[in-house]
Amino acid sequence: MQWGPFEKGELKDEAHLDAIFAKYRPQAVLHFAAFIEAGESVRDPQRFYQNNVADSLALLRVMQLHGVDKIVFSSTAAVYGNPLYTPIPETHPFAPLNPYGHSKLMVERILADIALAKGLGYTILRYFNAAGADPEGELRENHQPETHLIPLVLQAAYGKRPNIAIFGTDYDTPDGTCIRDYVHVADLASAHVLALKRLLSGSRNLTANLGTGCGFSVREVVDTVARVTNRPIPVRIAERRPGDPAILIADPSLARSELGWAPAYPELEQQVRHAVNVLNGTRPLQG
Ligand code: UDP
Repeated sequence: MQWGPFEKGELKDEAHLDAIFAKYRPQAVLHFAAFIEAGESVRDPQRFYQNNVADSLALLRVMQLHGVDKIVFSSTAAVYGNPLYTPIPETHPFAPLNPYGHSKLMVERILADIALAKGLGYTILRYFNAAGADPEGELRENHQPETHLIPLVLQAAYGKRPNIAIFGTDYDTPDGTCIRDYVHVADLASAHVLALKRLLSGSRNLTANLGTGCGFSVREVVDTVARVTNRPIPVRIAERRPGDPAILIADPSLARSELGWAPAYPELEQQVRHAVNVLNGTRPLQG
C-alpha cells in the first residue's frame, strides 16, 4: 500500500461514495475522473455529459453531505477551443469545439456557482498536453485505444504499428504541423499537491493553466522520438483531424505566481525519454 488505500467505484454510486467518505473523512477531494477523448465525445455526447458532468454532481452532493468543502478539479485547454491568440492566459474567451471541452467547462461553472452559494473552495487546473511518464518508472498508463501522439509515435518506433499518421502538414506554423504545449505528468502531479496545500491553507479560489509555455510541432515530436530511441520512424501524411487548432500554448504565469509551480521536466526530450523507459521497463533513468 505504497500510495495509501485504494477503493474502486463509480462516481454515480452515491451510496458507495457515502461509505467511502464516512470511512476516510477526507478534508478535500482531487477530482480526476472523466472521459477525455474529444472524438469519442462528438460521437457519444450523452455518455460524456453523464460521466463528466452528472457524475461530478453526484460527487459534489456527497462532499456537501459530509461537509467536505475543498476540491481540485482537472480541466483542460479544450475549454478555449481554437485560440484567438497564443500563449493563452486563463482570461482567453471560451469556445469549446466538442462535448468533451463543454463538459469540463460546465463543471467549472458548477464549481464557481457552488462556491458563491455555499462557500466551496476550489482550484481548477486546465491541462495542456499531458506527456511523459512516471520518472521513477513505477506507474504506467494504459489507454485503450491509444490516441495520443507521443505513445503512438513510440509504437511506430518499436514496430507496434506500421507508421505514424501526421494529421495535416498545411497549418500556419513553421513546419506546417500542429504545435502543442507538452507538460510532464509528474509536473501535473506536483501542481496538484501545491494546489491542495494552497486550498487547505484557505487561499482564494483559483483557475490556472498547466503548460510549460513552450510549443513543439508534430514533426518535432517525431524527430525527438527518433533521436531518443535511435530508430527510424515511418511517417504517413494524413488529412487534418477535425477540430484541431494549429497552435495551443499555455501562458502558465498564474500557476507560477499563485502555486509556486515550476515544471521540473519542461523539455520534450526528457518527457519522451521517461515515456520510453516506462514502455521498455528500463530503470534507472537518465535525465
Ligand atoms: N496527432 C497526429 N497523429 C496522431 C495523433 C495526433 O498528427 O496519430 C497530432 C494531433 O493532430 C495534434 C497533436 O498531434 O495536433 C497532439 O494530439 P493528441 O491527440 O496527442 O493531443 P490533443 O492535442 O488532441 O489533446
